[in-house]
Amino acid sequence: MINLYGLEMNKLIKLMEEEGQKPYRATQLYSWIYEKKAESFDEMSDISKSFREVLKEKYCLDLPTVYTKQVSKDGTIKLLVELKDGYKVECVLMRYSYGCAVCVSSQVGCNMGCSFCSSGILGKQRNLAPEEMMGQILLINKLLKEENKGQHVTHVVVMGTGEPFDNYDNVLDFIRILNHPKGLAIGARHITISTCGIVENIYRYADEHLQTNLAISLHAPNDELRSRLMKINRAYHLDKVMEAVRYYEKETKRRVTYEYLLLEGINDTKEHAQQLIKLIKGTMGYVNLIPYNETNKFPEFHRSSGNRVHAFLDYLMKGGVTATIRKEFGSDIDAACGQLKAKVEEENRDE
Ligand code: SAH
Repeated sequence: MINLYGLEMNKLIKLMEEEGQKPYRATQLYSWIYEKKAESFDEMSDISKSFREVLKEKYCLDLPTVYTKQVSKDGTIKLLVELKDGYKVECVLMRYSYGCAVCVSSQVGCNMGCSFCSSGILGKQRNLAPEEMMGQILLINKLLKEENKGQHVTHVVVMGTGEPFDNYDNVLDFIRILNHPKGLAIGARHITISTCGIVENIYRYADEHLQTNLAISLHAPNDELRSRLMKINRAYHLDKVMEAVRYYEKETKRRVTYEYLLLEGINDTKEHAQQLIKLIKGTMGYVNLIPYNETNKFPEFHRSSGNRVHAFLDYLMKGGVTATIRKEFGSDIDAACGQLKAKVEEENRDE
């Protein structure tokens, strides 16, 4: 069975043509599932009964299920979503003044092995299919609909578990469905992909000429430290990452966001700030400083104190680099990276 939620428009058109249908059939299906939110083929009243039978035989409209749901005092919702084969992934809804943003996972587990990140502990189990990423968004949209406040997902960040550029084709299909005017019609500028720096796919992504946002997880301003914190740096050194960033900027005219996690005593000194300024000088990008979410898995890493975070921000600003501090959500509900999944699995083990 082919899941309709995983088909970007061109693929759907092709499949419809193979069925002897006109291309507009694909638009009609998109409109039923994304605009009218039909959950079964029987609702699709302007499609002939006989073709609906064909659709039912070969296609499905399956969503993953909600395994656990946590709601924070600030309205943040964190779902642990169960996939068809029992694997579970997390997604988080964050409410901003400008809209509803969802952080989606792109893989079950992750192979990047960053030394501070819980998502990598067990390695990658598998890639998520486009319909499994769409599924996370659609489940959140359903919850928002139930709230009856007229809200829906307006922004998407691919910053949950997994490395999106290690699942490139599926993530791109997912983005195309989100962005398609007859799909969820989420503007490209409201979509952000975050990568730890898989250089060849930064080039590939630049060549797509999308108007989406790209975030690069830097976390360290020199190769020695970055290779210690992030295994990926041993394959792609910082000069290669920065070369790719410059190419991306040239091709897309978009600036990247550099993500910089502040770890006390490790990457948060004045020297680090100065190295960071030097590293990114001449690019258009700006720095997003991320307070570290501590976990008992890595007792060696601590979040930098508020004073140090602000001092770091000051150094950057004085050095001519634009920087912001990442707003935090859901601190009362394990909303931090990989932590709900880790907790549920721990509890299940104890039973
Ligand atoms: N693999 C991609 C996207 C997923 S991780 C990437 O590396 O960008 C999303 C972001 O969360 C990355 O910047 C990652 O380094 C960061 N992160 C990982 N563990 C964290 C933690 N405990 N606290 C705060 N940020 C964390």
